[in-house]
Amino acid sequence: MNHEYICIECKKEFEPDFFKLKCEESEYSCFDIRYFKNNSHFPVLPSPLNIETLGEGNTPVVRFKDKFPVLGDLMFKLEYFSPTGSFKDRGTSLLLSKAKEAGVKEFVEDSSGNAGASMSAYAKNLGMKCHIFVPEQTPLNKKNQVKIFGGELHNISGPRQNSTDAAKEFCRKTGIPYVSHNYNPYFIEGMKSFAYEIYDEFKEKITDIVIPVGNGSLLIGAYKGFHELKGLGLLRKIPKLHCIQMEDFSPIYQKINNFDWKFNSSSKTLAGGIAVTDPPRINQVIECINASRGESEIVSEEKTLSWHRKIANWGILSEITCAAALAGVEKLINRKVLGKNSNVLVPITGSGLKDLSNVKF
Ligand SMILES: [Zn+2]
Repeated sequence: MNHEYICIECKKEFEPDFFKLKCEESEYSCFDIRYFKNNSHFPVLPSPLNIETLGEGNTPVVRFKDKFPVLGDLMFKLEYFSPTGSFKDRGTSLLLSKAKEAGVKEFVEDSSGNAGASMSAYAKNLGMKCHIFVPEQTPLNKKNQVKIFGGELHNISGPRQNSTDAAKEFCRKTGIPYVSHNYNPYFIEGMKSFAYEIYDEFKEKITDIVIPVGNGSLLIGAYKGFHELKGLGLLRKIPKLHCIQMEDFSPIYQKINNFDWKFNSSSKTLAGGIAVTDPPRINQVIECINASRGESEIVSEEKTLSWHRKIANWGILSEITCAAALAGVEKLINRKVLGKNSNVLVPITGSGLKDLSNVKF
């Protein structure tokens, strides 16, 4: 084994244990993976590893420089080209490869939809049974994705957090392991390929990446990937990783700014993928934003929906969640964080086919 677990809070080291998700009974004590020595090449991945793939990653990048003349460049990385139509497949591939190695035959997961669909597909291919807990209001197509891949769907009423609580309770009652993409650190290791691909294609050209953030797995994974490339002497500067959240679902933005914030449980958003109020890796996300010298911003529902429509006019059908990142780009331009010297990349995190039924025509 080439790695160990390290607690993201107390920084204590542990022997890797696939089923151990936290160092103590605090919501904020997840593990991160730390490698014993810098490998001389990338990807840096946990060994042993027999990667189970369905063709995730290697997503295309499209330039939209002309649409935003105030920026140096603007590019979309089309993450919906992955097998289940979202970026989650990068993490799932690695997480369930490790699950197989750990002998998992059946597991529990909770998700706003994309991760559940992704986990169901990879689980089915590996002959595992999965129970996916989703909020009742999850778009029908995401739920149907879970079903067609044979995942057992549990609809949970109320905000996203209720699905997490219900999944944990189900695990306690049944003894079925909780293979959570938010808690288990191997998921994030799979996300690093996002950074590797950007480096492969653009070397140091990209200066800013604007990411819609719920639990933050893509932002953390991107930071780790770039940080490793820097450690290998391949990259001098890590792109600024900017975090975009919805106004009413903004725990990370609020904490970075030291605002006193409490979630209003009557709040609603169509950006379901980032409707997260209590991300277990909140401090790790903030460390990554700060270490990359990125900014954090919040955007309104109205602006998000208008951007969803606007990029459709460019031929890009994104899930609504991701349009928040474009509203974020606009705000960061107004704040002069982004400008002529910025070469900006936005991951289009999921396919618009997943939640097209929520769009009003
Ligand atoms: Zn700890």
